[in-house]
Amino acid sequence: MVKKNMTRRRFIAAASAGTIATAAVGIGAYGNINKKTGKLALLGGQPVRTKGFPRWPNPDEKTVKSMVATTRSGIWCRIQSKSGTVPTFEKKFAELIEVKYCVATGSGTQALHTALASLGVDGGDEVLVPPYTDPGSIAAIFVCPALPVIIDIDPESFQIDPDKIEERINENTKAIMPVHIMGQPADIDRIMNIAKKHNLKVIEDTCQAHLAEYRGKKCGTIGELGCFSFQTSKVLACGEGGAVIGNDEDIMDKCYTFQNRGTSRRGITEVGAPKYRMNEFEAAALLPQLETLEEMSVRRNENAVYLTSKLKDIPGINPQKLYDGTTRGTYYKHGFIYKKEHFNDIDRSKFLRALKAEGISCSGYINFRLDKEPWIENELNSNTFRKLYSKERLQKYREENNCPKNNQICDEMVVFSQNQLLGPKEDMDDIANAISKIYDNREQLA
Ligand SMILES: *Cc1c(COP(=O)(O)O)cnc(C)c1O
Repeated sequence: MVKKNMTRRRFIAAASAGTIATAAVGIGAYGNINKKTGKLALLGGQPVRTKGFPRWPNPDEKTVKSMVATTRSGIWCRIQSKSGTVPTFEKKFAELIEVKYCVATGSGTQALHTALASLGVDGGDEVLVPPYTDPGSIAAIFVCPALPVIIDIDPESFQIDPDKIEERINENTKAIMPVHIMGQPADIDRIMNIAKKHNLKVIEDTCQAHLAEYRGKKCGTIGELGCFSFQTSKVLACGEGGAVIGNDEDIMDKCYTFQNRGTSRRGITEVGAPKYRMNEFEAAALLPQLETLEEMSVRRNENAVYLTSKLKDIPGINPQKLYDGTTRGTYYKHGFIYKKEHFNDIDRSKFLRALKAEGISCSGYINFRLDKEPWIENELNSNTFRKLYSKERLQKYREENNCPKNNQICDEMVVFSQNQLLGPKEDMDDIANAISKIYDNREQLA
């Protein structure tokens, strides 16, 4: 009970810290809604939440104004002006990520291809990459055309498992592509040490990890190059867009030339390459968002820490493990492993339906098992790959391409999207309370 002699100000301070609010209604560690409205919404009961979550992408006035200004200016392509939106964005984004250079592209996949090619990854080479990622990470390696060697993940962090990297390195291995999945840093110190020992390049897939930090250093600036995506769902969004960042002038020059269909900054066409330029409308949509990126990142982190602290008290709910060096996440996704053994064996799809019925949007996220995907086999069987890699190499590749940990978490993952972490703290209470309600009333779903 709330002590009578507690001042109102002290009460509000403590309640907003999440301590007294729980004690006052006299409930247990997980939630206060279950005993009042025990019937699950999936079965016709009252949902925990009826409001929506913050909208994403956010079509606000400043974005509209910026895009209209670009339309009116007649500067629609980056090569028309050195002070257009694309060159301006590159400069500002590099400053924000605390890196010397940035080259914008038309997507994250294009950024990854640009980075790999500019570091010299070529036919016959191999690149180590985790399976729990966007197909773009893998596609970028295939188009080099190099072999994506899939390294299973740590099932608690969902990140590439450094213990499994060295055994897959051979004389053709050129690079490691760690993915900071959900926007939280991979075990990057260990990955960098392995890369150094074997003389490999590191391309950080930071497509989800804008402003994330490992030991105070921005993700994307630790390896040779970092690659971002600005696709609609990402925390900085313009429909489709991407960028490569780095500190090495020569390599970043190569990145510019590559995405500019082989024409260098000096105006000389030097190589044959694709055309991956970002257009001025995309950068016009991005520029105003840079003003609020930091503030939104802080809000997501605060909400995520609070949500994690509530979720980890619920049996069978195991939030993403963060590595020791994590000083900031992005929380493009907030994810946890759902252990159905603790929920009366209700399978994940029913759990997701029950949670959605309570008014909480959620998803099972990545649903392909990369070691079983037909498109991997199709690539291996293509003329390109049969010419570049020996029969023996491809056979060994197939035999080693097993990711049991990844397949397990593909079945058990539940995620919330970044926009769900942009509202007030009460939104996190709703999420946690809805899960507690399902837990407490799990026998209703049996
Ligand atoms: C989104 C994403 C990509 C691909 O970026 P696109 O802009 O969609 O091409 C690559 N890797 C990861 C981890 C992503 O989240």
